[in-house]
Amino acid sequence: MISEEILQSLGIPQNVYDFCHAREVKLRPQFERIEAIAEYNQAKVLAAFQKNRVAENHFETTTGYGYNDLGRDTLEAVFADVFRTEDALVRPQLICGTHALSTALFGILRPGDNLLYGSGQPYDTLQGVIGLREELGALTEFGITYSQAELGADGHLDPQTIVAAIRPETRIVALQRSKGYLTRPTLAVSEIGEVFRAVKAVRPDIVCMTDNCYGEFTEIIEPTEVGADLCVGSLIKNLGGGLAPIGGYIVGRRDLIERCAVRLTAPGLGKEQGPTLGVNRSFYQGLFEAPAVVEAAVKTAVFAAQVFQDLGYEVTPGPDEARHDIVQCITLRDPKLLELFCAGIQQASPVDSFVTPIPWDMPGYGGSQVIMAAGNFISGATIELSADAPMREPYTAFLQGALTWEHGKIGIMKAVSAMQSVRKLAEDVPVQGSDM
Ligand SMILES: *Cc1c(COP(=O)(O)O)cnc(C)c1O
Repeated sequence: MISEEILQSLGIPQNVYDFCHAREVKLRPQFERIEAIAEYNQAKVLAAFQKNRVAENHFETTTGYGYNDLGRDTLEAVFADVFRTEDALVRPQLICGTHALSTALFGILRPGDNLLYGSGQPYDTLQGVIGLREELGALTEFGITYSQAELGADGHLDPQTIVAAIRPETRIVALQRSKGYLTRPTLAVSEIGEVFRAVKAVRPDIVCMTDNCYGEFTEIIEPTEVGADLCVGSLIKNLGGGLAPIGGYIVGRRDLIERCAVRLTAPGLGKEQGPTLGVNRSFYQGLFEAPAVVEAAVKTAVFAAQVFQDLGYEVTPGPDEARHDIVQCITLRDPKLLELFCAGIQQASPVDSFVTPIPWDMPGYGGSQVIMAAGNFISGATIELSADAPMREPYTAFLQGALTWEHGKIGIMKAVSAMQSVRKLAEDVPVQGSDM
C-alpha cells in the first residue's frame, strides 16, 4: 500500500488507486506465466555469459578504428549464443532499430532482387527505407523491388499467400513480429517458424528475416530457433535492458552477418573495425538485466489491459492473452483522451515529469502527427515506460516499457488519474459508476 501522503504528492486519487490495485489480484495466473518466462531467459543469458567466459577486462573500451576490441567480440558471441545462432553484429554504430534493419536489407539485397514482406504493411520508418514512401536513398533507388503478402482475415500470417507471392528474384522474406502502429495481433515465434518452414520447403536459398523489435524475451524462444536466418532489433528496446545508451543488433547466419558488417563499415573492413567508446559494460549489463526488465514491461502491459478493459475501453491484446511483445494497445476513440493518457504517463516519469507531450511531425513517420510520452534516462528508449500514438482514428495509444513493474503500475494509475481529472469517467464509462 502506498501512503496517502505519497499518493497525494503523485496526484493519484485514492479511488483510482483502489480501483487499479484491485485489478492486480485478477492477474496472478498471468503474472506467474510471465515470471516463468523471465526465469527461463535469465538462465539462458547467464549460461551464455559463462560459456563465453565474460570477464572484467571485457568492459574496457576502444577508440579510433576499434581493432581487437575483445569486449565487443565476446559480446557478439554471447548474443549469438542467446539466439542459438552462428554470429552477431552488436554495435553502438547501429544507431537504432531502423538503422539495423536498413543495414541488413542493404547488406543482403542487390539490384534486381525482390524483398517480400509476409506480415502486411511494415513499420512506418521501414516504409521509407524500402521506398514505399519517397525517401532519398531508398532500396527502390537501387533497383530493388518490393512485394507484400497481406495478413489473413484473422490478422495472422498466411503461409500459402506468402509462398504464392514468392518470385524467382525474391531474395528475402521478412516478417515483422510486433505490430507497429497497427492493431493487428503480434506474431508468436511458432507462427513465424511455420512460415519460414514453408518458404524453405520451396526455396531454401531465400533469406528468412525477422524484425524482432519489442519481441525479445517475451517468449522462451527467438525466431532464429525456428528458421530465421537473420533477426534484427534495437538496444534501446528490450535487449538493452534500459542500460544501453544506443545500439542495434543483427544476429544470424555467419555469411549473412559478414554481408551486414561490410555494409555497416566498408568492404574489406567488416567486423574488424568499430570502437565501442565506453559502452561495453552497459551493453553487457543491459543484456543481463533484460529478462527482468522485459518481465516488468509485460506485467505493466497486462495490467494496463485489465484496468482499461474494466474501464470500458477496447484493448489489444486482452489481459489474459499470451504475449509476444511488450506493446499494449488501448483504443480511446477521442483525441483529447489520448492526449490526457499520454500526459498521465509523462507525469509519472522519473525524468521530465513536469512537461506536457504535444503532437508533432516526427521524422520518418510521414503522414499523421505523433504524440509521445517518455520521461526517459535514455532519450527515446521505449523499454522505459512510454506511450506513443499517431493522431488519427481510432486514437489508439501504444503503451510499452517500464524498467520496474512497480513503476509501470504507478504510471497506469497516473494515466487513469489524468483522464479522470478533466472528464468525469462516470459519464463515459459504464463500469466506473459501480466500481470507482
Ligand atoms: C521500434 C521498431 C522499429 C525500429 O524503430 P527505431 O525507432 O528506429 O529503433 C522497427 N520495427 C518495429 C516493429 C518497431 O517496433
